[in-house]
Amino acid sequence: MGAININEMKNMLNFTVGPVMSSDAVREIGGEQVPYFRTPEFSEIMLENERLIKKFAKAEEQAKVLFITGSGTASMEATVMNVFTPSDKVLIINGGSFGHRFVELCQIHDIPYDEINPTFGEDISEELLSPFEGKGYTGFLVNVHETSTGVHYNINLISEFCKRNNLFLVVDAISSFLADSFNMQELCADVMIAGSQKALACPPGISIIVLSEKVVKRVKTNKVRSMYFDLKDALKNAERGQTPFTPAVGILRQINMRLREIDAAGGEQSEIDKIHGIATDFRNRIKDLPFEIVSKSLSNAVTPIHPLNISAYDIFTTLKDKYDIWICPNGGNLKDEVFRVGHIGALSIDDNTKLITALADLNKKGLL
Ligand SMILES: *Cc1c(COP(=O)(O)O)cnc(C)c1O
Repeated sequence: MGAININEMKNMLNFTVGPVMSSDAVREIGGEQVPYFRTPEFSEIMLENERLIKKFAKAEEQAKVLFITGSGTASMEATVMNVFTPSDKVLIINGGSFGHRFVELCQIHDIPYDEINPTFGEDISEELLSPFEGKGYTGFLVNVHETSTGVHYNINLISEFCKRNNLFLVVDAISSFLADSFNMQELCADVMIAGSQKALACPPGISIIVLSEKVVKRVKTNKVRSMYFDLKDALKNAERGQTPFTPAVGILRQINMRLREIDAAGGEQSEIDKIHGIATDFRNRIKDLPFEIVSKSLSNAVTPIHPLNISAYDIFTTLKDKYDIWICPNGGNLKDEVFRVGHIGALSIDDNTKLITALADLNKKGLL
């Protein structure tokens, strides 16, 4: 291995699913000193963050928002630990590596569970759900956008199932929040999880848990064997815009800037429309390339692609090394089968043009 030049990384065009590119105003904060945070001024920033997250998630007025210093998985784990106990019985949609992560978390924390396993690239259906109707479940865990396969699940179907069966609905919306429509109140979702490095387009390090009033009561009475992940303390501190421990203060300031930018531009719907526009443009422009889009049920955040002639991972490496473009490779047994192109972060139609030009060039050279 030669010496690594970290400066070479900074001019890459980034079409991954996170971390993604940030706006100039968000990036500027990254160069500033990190302020002391036990102050009324920082509390104001946190309370505004809570207000705007609730607004964009269409959460009920009584909902609470927790900012966890830790990547998205930290909030998935905190949710499993604080919302459920070994007396529960939960259903998990396991259609890829993020669904599998919920399965592993329930195993680790002794939460009884059953899995629903949609086939690769497929959405959830009535037929898949109906065997679990009226079977005494208490909770439902789903990654609304299973980012590993690019499938966006029919959340209305899941929500109706949960309403009929009186289940706590936990939604990992980490890669979907601000990219796809989501109405926490209408869906009667009890938990929505988001992360800083996906469509929120900030550095990684903060994840966000939005809790319904109903689930807050449960969290306040459940016993949790953890100091950092016991959310009772976090809920108490959040009332005054604070956290129990030192949070990633700089990223929380960047999140504040970003939420304000979105609000000023018209709110979450304008951001969703922007991402939808970039995704649609990209999907239209790859029609002549030897690619197959692997699902019919897509999020606006990502296009999952199966290249017909060549290893998906080779395309990732060539674009990275020869064109200064990152697309998102897949892992495990999909490594050579699927790559993903993200549409979130500070991307434009011009950026799509650069990627399409690179892909057309590879195709001309017989490398697709
Ligand atoms: C990115 C992502 C996560 C979180 O992964 P981290 O690496 O822990 O941030 C969780 N769920 C989904 C669906 C994701 O896309």
